[in-house]
This record gives sequence, structure tokens and C-alpha cells, in this order.
Amino acid sequence: MKIHNFSAGPSILAQEVINQTAAAILNFNNSGLSILEISHRSKDFVAVMDEARALALELLDLKDKGYQALFLQGGASLEFLMAPQNLMKINGKAAYLETGTWAAGAIKEAKLFGETIVVASSKDKNFNYIPTNYEVPADADYFHCTSNNTIFGTQIKTFPELDMPIVCDMSSDIFSRTLDFSKFDLIYAGAQKNLGPAGTTLVIVKEEILGKSGRTIPSMLDYEKHIKAESMYNTPSVLPIYSSLLTLRWIKEKGGIGAFEKMNNEKANLLYNEIDRNPLFSGTAAVADRSNMNATFLLNDENHAATFDSLWKAAGISGLAGHRSVGGYRASMYNALPIESVQVLVDAMQKLESSI
Ligand SMILES: *Cc1c(COP(=O)(O)O)cnc(C)c1O
Repeated sequence: MKIHNFSAGPSILAQEVINQTAAAILNFNNSGLSILEISHRSKDFVAVMDEARALALELLDLKDKGYQALFLQGGASLEFLMAPQNLMKINGKAAYLETGTWAAGAIKEAKLFGETIVVASSKDKNFNYIPTNYEVPADADYFHCTSNNTIFGTQIKTFPELDMPIVCDMSSDIFSRTLDFSKFDLIYAGAQKNLGPAGTTLVIVKEEILGKSGRTIPSMLDYEKHIKAESMYNTPSVLPIYSSLLTLRWIKEKGGIGAFEKMNNEKANLLYNEIDRNPLFSGTAAVADRSNMNATFLLNDENHAATFDSLWKAAGISGLAGHRSVGGYRASMYNALPIESVQVLVDAMQKLESSI
């Protein structure tokens, strides 16, 4: 039976990416060697790293605009502290928008480095909306936000216009929609939501914002050192970076981010229309702030849970359980999830309705 993978992360990858990764594990570039056993300094892997870094910038339309792409380790969670350590001045301050668990994690780390101002928070309603109308102190060293709140199913649709560096955690929606990425100065994303397997983090940084904090930065946490070493300051995570490159090529082949944005809109509309139409279900996120990547919803009557769970499991759906802090269900619809899988979920929701 075909499995429909709605997992929030690590999550679905394009089948061709998985096939090509598997082939490279057996025999990489016809070298007779596995990609698992070659030097990261080998000509073949240096070419992978160079292409992945260039293609990430190309797809985001950031080529030749003063940006560098890096593939680091430590997940988005390490960026929570690398961002303040590289950008917050000694005795400076940073402004954060608190829209969920991951944003709160970033705030916690920033506080280790200096004054961290939470300009607005949606914690009062269990993060089910994106705050608006907040003031960002003009003297902040940077503003940090989370573009998509994977756990709570909300997504920022419009970003503030500010006269300071903008840092954004795009772990769960990078490459899913077109934005003017040149409005951001530092973007980071753990690969395992929309790019590749766990084990690497894509960091996109505008070089001119670096080197101004006045801090002594440990080498492994210093973006400038990673840039200078062309993202090979230490041994990079070879396999996740190779799979990420395959995904980037696949995105380009399918028409780039714009093509995925269109498909992601169609998938999200299909599911949200059913959540709103079907009297048995309710969405948990404020309608205007709904995420196209992670749709969170509840059964209005928990007594139907056993029937619904057996219906979607029988349909081959996997990974639909909601995060423990929201409950209910979460359908993650990353780039690689086909609309057919969303239709299978909608059919299961309709089957539940007709069975009652
Ligand atoms: C998953 C996720 C993280 C955590 O990523 P790690 O790579 O596990 O550190 C951070 N931010 C967002 C928005 C996420 O979705």
C-alpha cells in the first residue's frame, strides 16, 4: 500500500531524491566508492558542496547580492545561539517575535548574550495566531522571527519593514513560497523539514552584517570562519548535504519555488476547505495566519477519535498525530507531499462524516 507521509519532521522527501541517495550510497558518481566513505575534500564532494551552496542562493534569487550559503551542523537549535553571538553587540540588544515553541527557544538562547526584547507574543492563545502592530525598538541590533510555526500551524504572511538586520528561522517553510528573500539578512533552516534528511542546517547570511558584534566567537560558531572555509571548516555532514543538493536540483527541475508555491496553495486549500466544511472538525490556527505547510485541526467530538484514527490509518496515512502541546491532528504538507495524499486525507475525513 502507498504510504502518505504527513510527518512534521524529519519528513517526506521526493522519491527520486531517496532513490538517488540510495544509489550514491552504493556507488557515488561511478567511482566504485560509497558516498559514505569518501573524503569531504575529494573533488567529487567539493563539487557537491559548491553546487548546493550556489543552487540554494539561485533558488532564493540571492545570487550576486552579497549573500553566502552554508551547510552547518547542530540543527536550527544551534542557530538560536549562533545568531545572537554573531550579531548582538556587547551591551547591545535584540528584538524577537514570539510565535511558538521554536521562537521561545531562540529567545532563551539570545538572553544568554544580552538584552532580549520580546516585541510581541501569541502565547496568550497557545500561539494560534501571529501578532501584528508591534513596535520594534529602533536601536536593536537585529529582529528575529520564525516564518512558519511547525507545531502550531501558523505562518507569517507579511514581514515587517525594518531598518535593521532581519533574522528568520525558516526551518519549516524554506523553498515553499516566493518571498523577497533579499529583505532578510540571516536565514536558517534545519534540512529535515523541506530539504533533506536530518543532519545539516542551511544558513544564508548577508556578509555585510558580520564582524560587527565586537565579541570573541568560538571558531565553530563564527559565520565568518565558516564562510572563509567555504562551509568546510570541519568535516561537513556529507550525506545530508548530498541529499539536500538532490532536493535543490529537483526543486529547480520542477520550475523553482514559484511552482511549489502554487502546488502548496492548492494542497492547503484542499485541506482547509474540508476542515471548514466538515462539521466534525475545527482548525486550531487563526484563519488569516494558517500555515500552508502544517495544518493543525481537532475533532469537535473526541469520541470519534478511534473511528477517525482507524480510517486514516487504513488509508495508508502516516504521521498525522498532532504535537503534544496542541493535540488533535497535524497534517504537514511539505514540498514533496503530492496533492493526491491530501485528497486521501480529505476522503478519510468525509468517510468519517458519512459513517456517523
Ligand atoms: C524543527 C524546527 C526547529 C528545530 O530544528 P532542529 O534542527 O531540530 O534544531 C527549529 N525551528 C523550527 C521552525 C522548526 O520547525
